[in-house]
Amino acid sequence: MMVVGGSRGIGAEVARQFAAQGDHVAVTSRSGAAPEGTFGVACDVTDTEQIDMAFKAVEEHQGPVEVLVANAGITRDTLLLRMSEEDFTSVLDTNLVGAYRVAKRASRGMLRMRRGRMIFIGSAVGLAGEAGQANYAASKAGLVGFARSLARELGSRGITSNVVAPGLTETDMTAVLTDDRRAEIVRQVPLGRIARPAEIASTVRFLASDDAAYITGAVVPVDGGVAMGH
Ligand code: NDP
Repeated sequence: MMVVGGSRGIGAEVARQFAAQGDHVAVTSRSGAAPEGTFGVACDVTDTEQIDMAFKAVEEHQGPVEVLVANAGITRDTLLLRMSEEDFTSVLDTNLVGAYRVAKRASRGMLRMRRGRMIFIGSAVGLAGEAGQANYAASKAGLVGFARSLARELGSRGITSNVVAPGLTETDMTAVLTDDRRAEIVRQVPLGRIARPAEIASTVRFLASDDAAYITGAVVPVDGGVAMGH
C-alpha cells in the first residue's frame, strides 16, 4: 500500500497502522521523511514526473500498489477578497489535482490486477464550507465528485474509491490555530473535542479491509458529528 503525504500527521499515522498489521507500506512526501518500518520516497504531488518515478521505486521495492491513500494536503486560509489566485490554485493543485495525478498512476497497476482500493482524504469543510477556506473547501468538495466518478468508472474492475472526511484533527496543520479559534470550533462539535490522527487512520484501514469490499463512492465522516447532514 502507499500513503501519499505520509511524513507527518494523519498520513504518518495511517502508514504506522498499516505497517503494524504487517502490510508493506510506502510513504511519499516532499521531504521524503517516513515512519519507521515504511519505505519512504521523496515526491511532490504537483509534479507528474516525480510521481511516476516514486511509483516505479515503490513497484520495484514491494510490487504494484493495491491500496492508495491520497492524503497530501495544504491550506492557505484567507478571506475571499484577500485570496490571491495563487492562494487558490496552489491549494487546488496539491489537494485535488495531486489526487488526480496519483490516482491515475495507481490505476494502471490496479486495472492490471483487477483489484484495488483508493481512499481520498477529504474534509468536513469540503461538505459544510468554512469562512476563510474557500480554496481548501473547493479542493475537498472536488475530491468527492472525483472519487465518485472513479467509483463508477473502475467498479467493474474490482476497484473501490471512497473519501474519508475528517473534522478538526490534532496535527501540524491545526497547530497554527489560536486557542480562541480552536475553542470556537470545538464548541460546534457534538462530541466536544478534536480528533486524534489514529481515529482517522482506523477508518482508512477499515475501507481498505475485506470487510469494506462492498463500499464504494462513499464519503465517510470522522468528524465528531460536526458536518452531519451535509
Ligand atoms: P499535515 O500538514 O500534518 O501533513 C500533510 C502531509 O502532506 C505531510 O506529510 C506533507 O509532507 C504532505 N504534503 C503536503 N504537500 C505535499 C506535496 N505537494 N506533495 C507531497 N506531499 C505533500 O496535515 P494533516 O495530517 O493535518 O492532514 C492530512 C490530510 O488530512 C490533508 O489532506 C488535510 O487536508 C486533511 N484533513 C486534515 C484535518 C485536520 O484538522 N488536520 C481535517 C480534515 C482533513 P511534506 O511537507 O514533507 O511534503
